[in-house]
Amino acid sequence: MPDEKPEHHHEHSEHELRAEALETLLTEKGLVTADAIDGIIRLFEEDIGPMNGAKVVARAWCDDGFRARLLDDATAAIGELDVTMLPEAPIVVVPNEPGVHNVVVCTLCSCYPSGLLGISPKWYKDPAYRSRVVREPRRVLSEMGLDLAPELEVRVWDSSAELRYMVLPARPEGCEDWDEARLAGLVTRDSMIGTALPRDPSEAT
Ligand code: FE
Repeated sequence: MPDEKPEHHHEHSEHELRAEALETLLTEKGLVTADAIDGIIRLFEEDIGPMNGAKVVARAWCDDGFRARLLDDATAAIGELDVTMLPEAPIVVVPNEPGVHNVVVCTLCSCYPSGLLGISPKWYKDPAYRSRVVREPRRVLSEMGLDLAPELEVRVWDSSAELRYMVLPARPEGCEDWDEARLAGLVTRDSMIGTALPRDPSEAT
């Protein structure tokens, strides 16, 4: 089969060029500031984008049956939830468990579960992250602010155009009586990539 490279492999797609041209025009006309645009992008990257993933995680924390189905066939289980996402490659969810920490990368390019996590962060596409997290995951995670206990096994999952991975972080201590919506607020984008842990309930609002 003549394997066509997926669209996202192009460095500058037509969409990107159009977006860039539009941004330049709006900025030059004084209609928006670059800061405002960066703010909107950050909102999508860190808050709005990852909301689907956060809902999935919160449901798995509350419902053992859903959790089992999610780990067995994530694409089907996610279909049970009220989340709207564009169709994309099948998703596999890998759970952080006692003794195991998971982290996701795409070594080849930048494949990312964008239906669940929104726009990927810049560092995810960075060749340094992509090559180093495979060779020295502990060190890379430590540099990103996540120090893992030495006895923890670190598993690195390489996403591709055919298969996307998402981490199911462990439910933190101290939120036993929280409902699903409140729990979702603890789930960050990076905790679902595996480069961070969920927010600390005692510090969350
Ligand atoms: Fe990729």
